Parts: sequence; C-alpha cells; structure tokens
Amino acid sequence: MKSNHYKKVSLGFFPTPVVELKRLSQELGGPTLFIKRDDNTGLGLGGNKTRKLEYILGDALGQGADTIITAGAMQSNHCRQTAAAAASLGLECHLVLGGDEPETVNGNLLLDQIFGSHIHWAGDNRKGEDIPNIVAQLTNAGKRVYVVPYGGSNALGALAFLEAMNELQKQLKIFEKPLTHIVFASSSGGTHSGILLGKLAFNMAAEILGINIDKDGVNGVSLEQVILSLANEAAEMAGLDQRVLINDVRLNSDYVGDGYAVIGALEKQAISLLARTEGILLDPIYTARAMGGLVDMIRAEKFNKNDRVLFWHTGGTPALFAYSDEVSCGS
Ligand SMILES: *Cc1c(COP(=O)(O)O)cnc(C)c1O
Repeated sequence: MKSNHYKKVSLGFFPTPVVELKRLSQELGGPTLFIKRDDNTGLGLGGNKTRKLEYILGDALGQGADTIITAGAMQSNHCRQTAAAAASLGLECHLVLGGDEPETVNGNLLLDQIFGSHIHWAGDNRKGEDIPNIVAQLTNAGKRVYVVPYGGSNALGALAFLEAMNELQKQLKIFEKPLTHIVFASSSGGTHSGILLGKLAFNMAAEILGINIDKDGVNGVSLEQVILSLANEAAEMAGLDQRVLINDVRLNSDYVGDGYAVIGALEKQAISLLARTEGILLDPIYTARAMGGLVDMIRAEKFNKNDRVLFWHTGGTPALFAYSDEVSCGS
C-alpha cells in the first residue's frame, strides 16, 4: 500500500479502543457484539472526521493554505472537528452552516464558536452551495483558501478509513474468531468506502453494512454510487489492485424515517439502551439511528446467535445537548 506517501498531520489518538458489549448482547439474546470507539479519537470531543482530517489537512498544509472552509448542518460534527483541527494547526476556519443563526447556541455549534471558527449562515443550503462565493471573497482578501469537502468525503477521507481498517485488523488479532459483520452510520460516503476497501485490501470476511441516515442522495447521485467511486479512487491512490463492485456496496435505507436529523422512537430507544446497558453515549442523528437499525435487525433475527458483529461508533455525542427535548427520557 502506498498510502504512507500522503502527508498526514496528526490530530487524534489512535488506535481507538475495541471492546465487547457483553451486557447489550445479553439483553438482546446474542449475537456477540463489539464496538470500535471512534467517538474517542480525542480531537475536540472526537468522531470519525478526525481520521479524514488528518489526510485532508495534511494536503491543505502541503498546498500552503492559511485558511480552510467547509460546510454542514447547524449541528455538524464534521464542522466541529474541522474547527478544532484548524485551531490546533493555526489555520483560519470558515464554516458554512445550514439554517439561520439560532437564539441559543448549544452542542456542536457552541464548540464551533469556542474553537474560534467564522460562521456563515446559509439557510437551506446545508451542503456547501455557498462555498464558491465565500472562497472568492476570501481569496480577494489575500487568503490562501483550501476547501475541505462536505463530510470530509473525498478519496483522501476514504484513504483514512482504509488505514482505520488496517488498525482494526491488528486489534482483532487478540480475538479467537473473525468478525462476521461491521455495521455503522453512512452519510457522505467516505467512511463506508474506506471500510469496504479495507475489507478487500486486508482480506477480511466480515460483511460491511452501512445504515443510511439521510434519505437525500448527493447532488442527484445515489449514495451507493458515491461510495463506489470514492472506494475505487482511493484504491487507485493507494496503489491497490482490488476494485469494489456496486454489488459489494451494502447500504440499508430502512431506517431513514422522516429524514436527516428527524429524531424518533428508534433513535431515542437506542440511546437509552446503550447508555443503560453499557454506559456508552450515542449521538441522536447518526449513531443512534444506526444502532437502532442494528437492534431492530437483531430483534427481527436477521443475525445468527453465533455471529460476531462490530458496531463502529463514529462519534457525534455533543449533538445530544442540542436535541435535549427529543432525547430526554426521564429517570
Ligand atoms: C459524518 C458522520 C457519519 C457519517 O460518515 P460519512 O463518512 O459522512 O458517511 C457518521 N456518524 C457521525 C457521528 C458523523 O459525524
């Protein structure tokens, strides 16, 4: 693999832990469950974007950028980790956030401010439609601007998850039997594509199953297609011979409910179930929907009792505080 050839910056603490979820597994009557704690990557309260930003901001520094810009929803975890990373590298950070400035600031948005980022409110344009205009203004003002892709999902972001699979594969050597499934929340495609490519590159048996959390595609392209292209672009960059096929992309869209960030009973129950069996927090938008989906599939007997399923925790817990009305569940 040639991925070392890409200049990374160090932003987090790796490897993140892998632990067994014994009490959750017992509560559900099997299968054996594990969790990979990317909520503990260590950068500004953690999450999966930390891995991607190590590669993407390595590239930004290599290009001599002094200013970075990215976009997301008001409670974007990607934007919050980008703001923290920019602060640690001495870069000016601009965030283009969906919605209008709220009266009270909480969760990820509060952290964006604390990290000193410049926030631009974009109304309905939550996927970065306003970036070109702002880049033009900043460039005119003499800044060297680097655009961090939406969700950190380009081939560099996928390479970071190829490397994460290398990390996981080494951690799994202490377990007697291989994993049968890896399950996680999938949204802009970088995480899913890197994990899928890693399965091929490291010859792992586990089935790779993304739980779609957003029913909208990306610019009219299906998420499956985005994942396929990102994986194969990353394969090329890493000098791998393997290529992902569209049938390898397994994305479950049964749990998108009423759409992005509309929190319902599935998410709320998953949050309290994991908190009360394992003392681990999920975020309301991504990991609660993915865990809710996994629990639902386990209850519907889609897994065998002797399966060994790893849930990849992708972070996002600061958003719990911004959705306190939706997730509070009494004592
Ligand atoms: C961004 C994000 C995801 C999805 O990762 P993608 O690479 O965008 O598919 C999942 N969980 C959390 C908490 C995230 O912030």
